[in-house]
Amino acid sequence: MEREFIHEIYMRIFFYTFLFLAFNQFSYTFRYYQSSSFRTQEYKNPYSTIEKHTYKKASFHLHSDEVFYTPERHSTRDIIDVYKQNGYDIISISDYNQITIPSSIQENTLSAYEWGSCIRKRHLLALGINEIAPNNFFISFLGNIQFAINFIKQKGGYVVINHPKLYSAFSIEDLMKLWNYDAIEVLSPFGDIIEFWDTLLSNGKRVHCMASDDLHYLPESYTKNLNQSFFKNLIQNLFLQRGREGEALLRYVVLSAQNTDSESILNALKSGDFYCVKKFYRTSPDPKVPKIFFQNNKIVVRSEEKFFRLEFIGKNGTVLKSILDSQTAEYELKPDDIYGRVTIYSLSGVILSNPMFFQNSK
Ligand SMILES: [Zn+2]
Repeated sequence: MEREFIHEIYMRIFFYTFLFLAFNQFSYTFRYYQSSSFRTQEYKNPYSTIEKHTYKKASFHLHSDEVFYTPERHSTRDIIDVYKQNGYDIISISDYNQITIPSSIQENTLSAYEWGSCIRKRHLLALGINEIAPNNFFISFLGNIQFAINFIKQKGGYVVINHPKLYSAFSIEDLMKLWNYDAIEVLSPFGDIIEFWDTLLSNGKRVHCMASDDLHYLPESYTKNLNQSFFKNLIQNLFLQRGREGEALLRYVVLSAQNTDSESILNALKSGDFYCVKKFYRTSPDPKVPKIFFQNNKIVVRSEEKFFRLEFIGKNGTVLKSILDSQTAEYELKPDDIYGRVTIYSLSGVILSNPMFFQNSK
């Protein structure tokens, strides 16, 4: 009798736990995943501040060892030292579901975290807010993700869809159904995916590029010189985490801002006043980003250094015009060009501009 009673108690606990988890999972889905329509935004020339501001090198997607201990990740102090050595002006630590702001970068940072702990690595980068979007989903349906995007946006933040290629986290169909996000991580160590971006732009999603290191470990050439504890070095060796060069210090953003306080950085991001850069080699000099004007439907590019090739890109990634071996380029947008953006191949890397739209385009 007593045994039956205990058995029934167990069954009830199991049943109600299951009900709670199921409700938790689906309630957000039903509430927030209602339509695949997107909001059109009024679009301005993203590079309108070029004469007033200076360019700042920025990295927004860096993981530290502050969330939970992993021997692979580094301390915020080590990350900041290495990034500063490499010319970065703005450094954001984007730990999983936690805002980490070390005291040494109080001014030159933007609050950041990576949202999402589901099994498919469907992650978002939340920038410029101080609240963590609820994240207790064991499987992330698009509805859950849309809920998180809306949460971050309502709080005034900037949302990036991270590494779509990692474990095929996001298909192009997924990205078409989601809305209200600001950028897509087109340059990522887990796969560069510029073609997704052009498909989105061609179908009315006015999103920016993002370029990130998604740092989990520094190159061995740096790690071996860090003042890490004996224990951390030992664990890294035992887990065969040493000797790797990886892809850190290659992908970053150059944004135009007068100051490096949070508000200035966030404003530059929201207006698209930045470039996404990928260097071919870590030791190469940083490619110089150009100045881009938008005059009478004409995109005008002036570069301080000679580029190897410059392409004006339009709908579906079509090359509208290609210029070789020059410092200047122009392209007049035609009425049937939905958007125009610029890709520059310099000797040391690739630079992507954000897209420019006609003010009156659909
Ligand atoms: Zn991630």
